[in-house]
Amino acid sequence: MCETGSFKPGYEKIFIEAGVFGVEFCGNCGLGRTVPLPEEAGEGSGADPAGLSLAARLLRRCFAGAGRRRIERFVNKDKGGILDIGRAREDFLSAMEDRGWTVHGLDADSLAAGSGAHAGLDILPEASFDAAVFWRVFGHIQDPATALRECARALKPGGALVMAVPNVKSLQARITGKAWFYLDPRFNAYHYTEANLRLLLAKSGFEVAEVRRFSAEYGPFGLLQSIYNVGGFRRNILYNPLSSASGRGIGFYVDIVQILTTLPLTIPIAVILAVVEAWQGNGGVMEIYARKRARPGT
Ligand SMILES: [Zn+2]
Repeated sequence: MCETGSFKPGYEKIFIEAGVFGVEFCGNCGLGRTVPLPEEAGEGSGADPAGLSLAARLLRRCFAGAGRRRIERFVNKDKGGILDIGRAREDFLSAMEDRGWTVHGLDADSLAAGSGAHAGLDILPEASFDAAVFWRVFGHIQDPATALRECARALKPGGALVMAVPNVKSLQARITGKAWFYLDPRFNAYHYTEANLRLLLAKSGFEVAEVRRFSAEYGPFGLLQSIYNVGGFRRNILYNPLSSASGRGIGFYVDIVQILTTLPLTIPIAVILAVVEAWQGNGGVMEIYARKRARPGT
């Protein structure tokens, strides 16, 4: 995937519940690689939390609807067949299905460690989908070049590929370093920049049409959570209570008190940085819209 393969140490000793990880970076293209490579597949950190409040659910439904409209505009169709790789966004899937799209979901665990990078993709019928999406699970894939080639094969000529990928060169990634929320070394094998993703897509038979460099859905939350991580709070103190239905012990309430007392300070910082990110076009998560080239190699 990376031509030179000369990786240099970047972040070391990232302690998370699953173990101790580091991230090394290619001196040539800036691609990051987790060491050791994660063994857990992960359902994507965007998976629908069980305990979301009503307000959060409504907000997510708005974002899912906006995502669906952007995809329909890009594909230039209002229904068809769509391949969802990683199934990280149930709300988005139902938004597509409600509109008449036929959704084929592939579980992320078949794409990550241990079970072969393209498992499930290689048996898809050729040229059969109008669009394919990766919502924040692309970094989990340990053989991304093969996965993209199989994805291109399964798409119709001119078919659309839409991916939301954390940008390891974004403002929030650089400011917060190894505390960055979207670094997520428990699941992410690789950490991309726009430049090395473009290179990989070009080599895999895709042409990038549009890059959205700021996501209102992911950017501000990533900033806020990363600020807490930098501040020495329990890692992912905001995200974890949202994502796990289990364990409402004393620790849960201690977290809530810590969050509520610090939000008046952390929210303004996150908002200011989010405005800078949006203005610079350098958000924590980028959305890439690409098309399958008519003939490979052209
Ligand atoms: Zn490289």
